[in-house]
Amino acid sequence: MKITEILNTEKLLLSFEVFPPKTETAFESVKEATEEIAKLQPSFMSVTYGAGGGTSKYTLDIAKNIKDMYGVPTLAHLTCVSSTRETVRQKINEIEKSGIKNIMALRGDIPEDLKNADRSEWDYKYAVDLIYELKSIDPDFCIGGACYPEIHPESPNQREDIKRLKEKIDAGCDFLTTQMFFDNNLLYNFLYKIREAGITVPVIPGIMPITNAKQVERAVKLSGSFMPQRFKSLVDKFGSDPAAMKQAGIAYATDQIIDLYANNITNVHVYSMNKPDVAELIQRNLSDILGK
Ligand code: FAD
Repeated sequence: MKITEILNTEKLLLSFEVFPPKTETAFESVKEATEEIAKLQPSFMSVTYGAGGGTSKYTLDIAKNIKDMYGVPTLAHLTCVSSTRETVRQKINEIEKSGIKNIMALRGDIPEDLKNADRSEWDYKYAVDLIYELKSIDPDFCIGGACYPEIHPESPNQREDIKRLKEKIDAGCDFLTTQMFFDNNLLYNFLYKIREAGITVPVIPGIMPITNAKQVERAVKLSGSFMPQRFKSLVDKFGSDPAAMKQAGIAYATDQIIDLYANNITNVHVYSMNKPDVAELIQRNLSDILGK
């Protein structure tokens, strides 16, 4: 099922993100964790490509397993920036063969050793190049793109970032998923600005439940997200008590989701990563709202 068909709902729907294993030995345990999450019957599950320490090699195996074994629609991530056209085309071919229609088209982070390289000869410079390619191979692909309520870290300003985002939509991107954020007002401001810029596709907010103090540092480094004082106080108070921090982090994420739904946002993507307990606790906290 295409993600865009799922998004048209008045009910609150949660989707979950997982990442592939780093090594072959870890494959079984990651597969099991993703299956536990799939049993919660989220609206869809996305599988990252090389992000979060996972290896791109296994993205499709994990995504296909979730789809075939549990009937959960899957979104396979694909990055392009440090790949050749040949490799990317081969990946697209494999995705098509596996019966997955939903692809999250990403540029990917520029590897450290290539940051100062001459990019003029690269097959792909930006996600938009991959989106054009996907649509030319199969116009029926349902394509997602990334967006950044707090601006992509490489972007000079928000106006420029939104202009580039609009180019992805014009190239055929069907929906957007946001980078994590911890203050919902940032999302509401962003939505206002992109709608004003003529971007009308569905936007799925991404919520990261922070369940341990170390994760805070990593999340900020990775996303550059703003930490509101309310969130910082929570980490100060509970950071050294793992069980309490987990409970408080899940409560904070739940609260963000309730506020989003109260503001008529019906689809929320949870960066549950490979933690079935976290996905389940969030779902349980929202059981009456979700009707599950
Ligand atoms: P782009 O849309 O290409 O944008 C990158 C930057 O280039 C932005 O600053 C943009 O404004 C600018 N730009 C775009 N077009 C132009 C142009 N023509 N000229 C000049 N500037 C331009 N990473 C992974 O490795 N694997 C994953 O699975 C993964 N999943 C993600 C999922 C989500 C929802 C998000 C938000 C991020 C994810 N990432 C993932 C991280 C992502 O790869 C990085 O944030 C990366 O730096 C940018 O990717 P992008 O697709 O947003 O790039």
